[in-house]
Amino acid sequence: MPQLITRQEAISKIEKEIPRGECLACHILKEQTKHILKKGKYTTTLLSEYPRCWGQVIVIANRHITSFTELKPEEWNELSQHILSATTAIEKALTPLRCYVAATGAHENMVSTTPHLHFNIVPIYNKTDKPATIFTWGKGLYSGTNEEWAALYKNLKTAWV
Ligand SMILES: [Zn+2]
Repeated sequence: MPQLITRQEAISKIEKEIPRGECLACHILKEQTKHILKKGKYTTTLLSEYPRCWGQVIVIANRHITSFTELKPEEWNELSQHILSATTAIEKALTPLRCYVAATGAHENMVSTTPHLHFNIVPIYNKTDKPATIFTWGKGLYSGTNEEWAALYKNLKTAWV
């Protein structure tokens, strides 16, 4: 069973791995090679390493862009296609009650987020979960064993159409 870790545990881990002030999304695109569900020409879709709910996926623009105004039509087309593919793969593989899909981010680089355009696809499993309890790290984040991560990745990769 994936375990809930505290916000502080997650932040301490990120602070060890990523220099403060660096764009979190650019760092992930440059350094992370595992758990990538789809590497497209314009976007990258992968498992969130710090999920609020187990099975959370992020779709990141490959270019460092920070507003929708900067998106080219072909980037938006691929982005929206991969959001749809990721969400349907989650629905098929994990059967959540619902998926929240959101481009949140921040106006400056922070430990837990970035202005770099990205979408979160968050599977919801509990009827009591609401956006206010999901779009926060205050309630903790999930972490799994290597075997749990591998099983999740395989599940979603298999369900990806
Ligand atoms: Zn970036």
